[in-house]
Amino acid sequence: MLKEYARFASDKTFELLAIDSPTGFTNAAAEWVAEQFTALGYLPTITKKGGVVVNIGADAGDGLLLEAHVDTLGAMVAEIKGNGRLRVTNLGGMRAENAETENVRVYTRDGKIIEGTLQLCNASVHVNGNYSDTKRSFDTTEVLLDEDVNSEDDARALGIEVGDVVAFDPRSRLTSSGYIKSRFLDDKLSVGILLAYAKYVKDNAVQLSRPVWIHVTVYEEVGHGGSASVPADITEAISVDMGCVGDGLKCTEKKVSICAKDSGGPYSYEVVGALIDAAKREGADYAVDVYPFYGSDVEATLRAGYDIRHGLIGAGVYASHGYERSHLDGVENTLKVLKGYVK
Ligand SMILES: [Zn+2]
Repeated sequence: MLKEYARFASDKTFELLAIDSPTGFTNAAAEWVAEQFTALGYLPTITKKGGVVVNIGADAGDGLLLEAHVDTLGAMVAEIKGNGRLRVTNLGGMRAENAETENVRVYTRDGKIIEGTLQLCNASVHVNGNYSDTKRSFDTTEVLLDEDVNSEDDARALGIEVGDVVAFDPRSRLTSSGYIKSRFLDDKLSVGILLAYAKYVKDNAVQLSRPVWIHVTVYEEVGHGGSASVPADITEAISVDMGCVGDGLKCTEKKVSICAKDSGGPYSYEVVGALIDAAKREGADYAVDVYPFYGSDVEATLRAGYDIRHGLIGAGVYASHGYERSHLDGVENTLKVLKGYVK
């Protein structure tokens, strides 16, 4: 039965992926998220910082917080060069090696969207003898605007200024075999999953025995997404964020990942154990893994001083912070764990 909700999660993820939301530029995406929860019959609020908070459970008791983030990697205009091209700086952990040749949208402060491409400086292989030897960084690449721009003044005449946000094309695709390919599945796929879970609760009139708050955070990619807006009754918080897939780890794109430890140390032994129990009860295909280079929203919540137990689950995502890939089965398995865990 959760298959149809996995499909719903995927559909919503694709809608959200179509709304650019590099970290620090998330208002449109957050408003969309709030509208989605409202359409499902809930009463979300938008926090001062710009995240979305909504209770889908009971009014009082021992509260559970589920956190997923709507902000993504991206870039910002750092300099308009004399030739009218743009030097950009990363927002979050965007990598030039991966962003090279991607189409971009530059958002000007007067509301225009200018298209371009992130290219190596002097990008023609027939002209540049150092093409293969050049280390890619945001200093050796530049945004080439698809407009008649040959000078700094030409770029400024389009309304472009330092501080403008640069969004990378996510190139979202769902294959006939169920693979979901896109940039920024981290963490829009999890937002889709939480929307699907909220729909499942509503459609089936599931009576949750405790408050179950969802916080769709912003600024996760720069480390302080989950550091505020924790409702008073929360005793437990679980990040729903991408599960790592790679050498030495057991998870695949078709599984749900339960994280036992990441760069911030071990997750709550009790919460991890209860997540494994839930996965077993629901027959979810899961993997328990240790993530070598990873931090999460719930760790930001703990560092902000909240007295909570913490956990992390998510659908497996390969090539994270690049052109990412997951699968409908991973989404369904994540929904199974949520169904089994949240009572
Ligand atoms: Zn993430």
